[in-house]
Amino acid sequence: MKTAVVTGGASGIGLAIAQRLRSDGFHVAALDRNPAADDDSAYRADVTDPDSIAEALGAVREKLGPVTVLVNAAGVDGFKRFQNIDFAEWQRVIEVNLHGVFHTIQAVLPDMIEAGWGRIVNISSSSAQSGQPFMSHYVSSKSAVNGLTKSLALELGPSGITVNAVPPGFIDTPMLRRSEARRLLGGTVEDHIQRTPVRRVGKPEDIAATCAFLISDEAGYITGQIIGVNGGRNT
Ligand code: NAP
Repeated sequence: MKTAVVTGGASGIGLAIAQRLRSDGFHVAALDRNPAADDDSAYRADVTDPDSIAEALGAVREKLGPVTVLVNAAGVDGFKRFQNIDFAEWQRVIEVNLHGVFHTIQAVLPDMIEAGWGRIVNISSSSAQSGQPFMSHYVSSKSAVNGLTKSLALELGPSGITVNAVPPGFIDTPMLRRSEARRLLGGTVEDHIQRTPVRRVGKPEDIAATCAFLISDEAGYITGQIIGVNGGRNT
């Protein structure tokens, strides 16, 4: 049985991915900064802190063995006019969304190289394809994740490791609903449904299904790809 680590696995998209991989037969460890107390597959880790990742992974490896699947779903958003973003705020978004991916990939890579097989899926954002006003820090971080994905795919392919990114469109999660409640979306989720060709909001399970495929053995010839899951927006 393979072991998968999902960051941001306590909420929204990461939670759905963790559940899907578990039902597909993986051992799953969900890393999050606030894991559910009653979930024995949950591990506390802050992806911006390499020591906390190492500590969580130590416990995961002891219980579940080497980690050969990694999904990076932990993330924070940010909405502010560019002139008003102070540098600490800019750094915080980049630190979680980009540096967090750097730290977790570096931490699990030795297991994948040793196994001669691995799957990495990075959850970026459709906003990195289109650009998004008032989200320049967020979009910059997610664009960098797409670039990292492409570079690592080339570098790690010879080691049997694929690296892909899934940039979601509007997905109905606590993050999206928080933004809606704060009137940051430029309309309600319902308004966005009317602007979406398939006329519905995305579900976390839509992202989970795509990740499950990219992680499967069948997807071994797919690497370095940015696979949009967005109902036809921002493609
Ligand atoms: P969510 O419901 O807020 O889930 C994100 C999870 O990541 C939360 O549990 C959060 O913990 C955790 N997290 C944040 N910072 C962390 C850190 N430093 N270390 C460890 N865990 C951390 O959001 P979501 O909508 O599922 O988003 C998942 C991913 O999809 C994110 O990368 C997001 O940018 C991306 N995305 C989402 C959408 C969408 O429409 N929902 C669209 C495009 C991209 P806290 O709750 O404690 O912050």
